[in-house]
Amino acid sequence: MQRDTDFPIAIIGAGFAGIGAAIQLIKAGVESFTIFERAGEIGGTWRDNTYPGAACDVPSHVYSLSFEQNPNWSQRYATSGEIQEYLLDVVAKWNLRQYMRLDTEIVEARFDEDAGAWALQTSRGDRFKARVVIAGVGGLVDPSYPEIPGMSDFEGDMMHTARWNHGVDLADKRVSVIGTGASAVQVVPSIAPIVALLTVFQRTPAWVVAKFDGFYPRWVKKLLARFPFFLRASRFVKYWVSEIRGPIVFYNSRLLSAIGVLLSKWNLRRQVKDPELRKKLTPTFQFGCKRVLVSDDYWATFERDDVELVTDSIERIEAKGIRTNDGKLHEADAIVLATGFKLGLATAPFPIIGRGGKTLDQAWSGGAVAYKGMTVSGFPNWFIMMGPNTGPGHTSVLVYTEAQIAHALEAIEKIRDENLKYVDIRQDVQDRYNEGIQKRMKHMVWGGCKSWYLSPDGSNHSLYPGFAAEYVLRARHFRPEEYELARYGDTVADVADERDPAARALEGVETA
Ligand SMILES: Cc1cc2nc3c(=O)[nH]c(=O)nc-3n(C[C@H](O)[C@H](O)[C@H](O)COP(=O)(O)OP(=O)(O)OC[C@H]3O[C@@H](n4cnc5c(N)ncnc54)[C@H](O)[C@@H]3O)c2cc1C
Repeated sequence: MQRDTDFPIAIIGAGFAGIGAAIQLIKAGVESFTIFERAGEIGGTWRDNTYPGAACDVPSHVYSLSFEQNPNWSQRYATSGEIQEYLLDVVAKWNLRQYMRLDTEIVEARFDEDAGAWALQTSRGDRFKARVVIAGVGGLVDPSYPEIPGMSDFEGDMMHTARWNHGVDLADKRVSVIGTGASAVQVVPSIAPIVALLTVFQRTPAWVVAKFDGFYPRWVKKLLARFPFFLRASRFVKYWVSEIRGPIVFYNSRLLSAIGVLLSKWNLRRQVKDPELRKKLTPTFQFGCKRVLVSDDYWATFERDDVELVTDSIERIEAKGIRTNDGKLHEADAIVLATGFKLGLATAPFPIIGRGGKTLDQAWSGGAVAYKGMTVSGFPNWFIMMGPNTGPGHTSVLVYTEAQIAHALEAIEKIRDENLKYVDIRQDVQDRYNEGIQKRMKHMVWGGCKSWYLSPDGSNHSLYPGFAAEYVLRARHFRPEEYELARYGDTVADVADERDPAARALEGVETA
């Protein structure tokens, strides 16, 4: 067995994925890893999304790490602040800060095929070598800003939900919200009671189903803490309920879509009495085709006298507000851009150069593909968390992430224990897998409308076409026969150089 320091592992990103991977490595007795995080604090999504109302839309008992369950969630769907607190507590419990390099962005990664190691370039100008990389850079990280003429002319405050400016007091202001997606359904009902006038600009309405959120009484939290069995049972039940309901959201079937529409229209009717308003808020596209949102109070907000729904399209932004194509100027003191994120997993997050000098973007020129969303042929010892076709439309992302961590861990053990140079997914295995995925896509609901799920050519490289449980069964184990296993001594250069190959791999560059 090699010394730990001879087997440096780089984890990129300190969100749920990076933190979860670090804990599982420690549990497996591997402590030779470094977590690189470009921001000054851990947390990823939950560090960045602090807008009023920000919360998860999968019950917290499922939307948390299975190996770090928390009996103290104050409500069924925890707020962003509470999730960030949870992550901070987990990091403290496992003493993870000692492994971290904050404010350190990885800006380039290059695979050294002879050495069987990745050379990582950081934003600080240093270089690190790592035998294995776990890339937990997230899929919804960089805000997407709309391109509306005149944006810089606006004289008031403008902010994206994912970069909330807490220095701006919205109380008694006229606020415009652009966008009606997942962030909007949370921010709109949260700020409506404090602002003077709220104007929401809707391009496309969304299907919204009831959240049935609620606070856990103290006795429930005590019970869950005292008897972890009940916490596990709650997670189990919530997980399987989301799985059983899953096909309503992802499967292309008239019957299932009709059930979804029924559920959503019931939610609309209980919140909105005005039939004209209901009509404006009712989508015309198939249920599930775009992300289905959850909220108990988003639609009801539009019944308020101080909230206005604008369905005319935006022509431009001017100094005093937003002008729509009917010529009307909607004056505003502040504009909130609830316009979502760039889909991070469609392209390489930074230049990643694999075997033979091929970049990941070149490998993905026809669309992002990976074996089980994790490994890409030609990019050995590189494990992607939340990669192509691993997003769920119906349950917690973390279920998928945990399977990916388990897969990476088994691969690491194999590489370490057998002193392999690298493992590289076989091209034929990867191709076969992705052909299967795209074939199954035809039975899914997502092809029926334009959404951020789809690439410009209409193909879907973001979502997993099936149940989470099935993905987990397929993905959680590393199967060596599916990979090309390269050993030191396989190449002429290795044979000629008699020094210890693993140590040689790491010479000359700081290790992670
Ligand atoms: C508002 C919002 C609500 C959501 N709600 C849910 C939900 O209810 N249920 C659900 O399942 N999913 C939800 N998601 C998806 C969510 O992103 C994932 O659940 C999860 O947080 C992803 O964790 P992660 O660690 O993979 O990525 P992230 O949390 O995005 O973390 C990635 C980290 O990597 C860092 N990073 C990126 N690039 C680099 C680099 N080059 N070098 C160093 N560091 C880097 C980033 O700074 C970040 O800290 C939500 C997403 C958003 C935006």
